[in-house]
Amino acid sequence: MDVVSHAVWGATIIRKSTHVWWAAFFGALPDLLTGAYGLVRYGSKYSVELIEFSELHKPGGLYLKVYYFFHSFLPISIVAGIIAIFAPNYTIVTLPYYLHIIMDIFTHRGVWATRIFYPISNFHFQGHNWWKNKWISIVNWGAIVAINLIIFIL
Ligand SMILES: [Zn+2]
Repeated sequence: MDVVSHAVWGATIIRKSTHVWWAAFFGALPDLLTGAYGLVRYGSKYSVELIEFSELHKPGGLYLKVYYFFHSFLPISIVAGIIAIFAPNYTIVTLPYYLHIIMDIFTHRGVWATRIFYPISNFHFQGHNWWKNKWISIVNWGAIVAINLIIFIL
């Protein structure tokens, strides 16, 4: 899904005032880390067009490997373990990172399919690319608005 909705989902599921910004940050983090790598590697040339119409999305490329790595359960589980040791009260803010991966499992396919156990396994599921089906975004944002309305009204 889009990076903004991942952040908003994070803030929706972890609402505690001391944690909410961290939750939004961790929700967006898989895409932010991939984007940071793209910016460092490709500078001002880094763009949606570069990703779609260049070597970046060809299987086996380093960009895709970085993308898979940050969308895998393994690295975040190591980070969550470290947070659990040094700041146990904040371990819960890693949940939105897992939610990001779970949502991307169903909303990506082909080279962009989420490799949940990368780099140990290339196992993946063929979901539907959210950017090619506007109804996925409509349902996603509709659910965000509905859930937040219910929480604020109740
Ligand atoms: Zn993502």
